[in-house]
Parts: sequence; structure tokens; C-alpha cells
Amino acid sequence: MVKKNVKLNPMELYNLLPKTNCRLCEPKTCMAFATKLALGDVQPDDCPPLLESGFEENLAKLRELVAPMLTAEETGIKLDEEKCTGCGNCVVVCPVDVAAEPPTSLGKAAMTEETVFRVENGISKIINLQKCRRFPPDRLNCRVCEQYCCTDAIEIW
Ligand code: SF4
Ligand code: SF4
Ligand code: SF4
Repeated sequence: MVKKNVKLNPMELYNLLPKTNCRLCEPKTCMAFATKLALGDVQPDDCPPLLESGFEENLAKLRELVAPMLTAEETGIKLDEEKCTGCGNCVVVCPVDVAAEPPTSLGKAAMTEETVFRVENGISKIINLQKCRRFPPDRLNCRVCEQYCCTDAIEIW
């Protein structure tokens, strides 16, 4: 069992939430939601208002912040941005990315928010780890991105 080894600041997460205490999530308040986010017990997409227009940047930032925790805890995938050259191989070969955005199989940059990987400013980022085939409940033993990463930036434990 891989331990959660990523520390997230609940206050930083809270500041990216709608802060309306709308009660649409399970913990009912934004502060409680932020605390659970920091523990990995909920995901940004569990907050319905965050999925509405106007919160795209907050949602993207929150997904980015929790991604290292997801990678460590749920899939074993780590992406070392220091080693990444932005070649885009991971986007091209990931079956989820190709299904979500077929032009990526031809080397076209992913433009939607539906892929697992997205190359931004010359570095690949994991934007939707929940869609990875290793993620629960599927937990398939896919390692394609690791195998095709030319710099060993992607490591799967
Ligand atoms: S659903 Fe989102 S906005 Fe509503 S209380 Fe929960 S965290 Fe706050
Ligand atoms: S393990 Fe497979 S499904 Fe998951 S990100 Fe890598 S290539 Fe995509
Ligand atoms: S395959 Fe590796 S080096 Fe290329 S963009 Fe993906 S993570 Fe970066």
C-alpha cells in the first residue's frame, strides 16, 4: 500500500472553492470539503458548482494541486516535470487520451479538458488522473505512458 506522502494546505484549497456553503457536497460546507480534499477523501469534481462555468480556472488549479496525491495513492503514477521534455508521447499513446480526443493519436496537442495528460508550456501535466485506466474501480495494469516516455519522467510504482 502506497502511503499518502503529499501535504496539501486546506486553506489554499479552500480559497479556490466557490465558498458559498451551498451544501451540495457530502461534507456540506466549503471548509470541511477543503479539509477532505487535503486528505484525499474527496476530489475537486465532487463539488458540483466547480463544474459550472466561471470556475474553470479554479477547477484546473485544484485538479493540479491534488494530482500528486492521486498519483501517489491511487495509481502509482508519478510524473517528474523536471525530467519532462514535452515530447507529447504520453498524450499520443495513452488510450484514454486517444479515445477522448482522437487527433492526439496523430500527434496533435490535446485541446480539451478530457485527456489524462496535457502538454502546457513545454511540460506534460496530469490533468485528469481519475480517467487513467489504473484508477479505481477499473485498476487495469496499463503502463503504456511509462513505456513510451523517452526521459523516464513517468514512473509507475
Ligand atoms: S459543493 Fe462546493 S460550493 Fe457547495 S459546499 Fe461543497 S465545496 Fe462548497
Ligand atoms: S497508465 Fe495507461 S491509461 Fe493511465 S495514463 Fe498511462 S497510458 Fe494512460
Ligand atoms: S512522454 Fe515523458 S517526456 Fe514526453 S511529454 Fe510525456 S512525460 Fe514528458
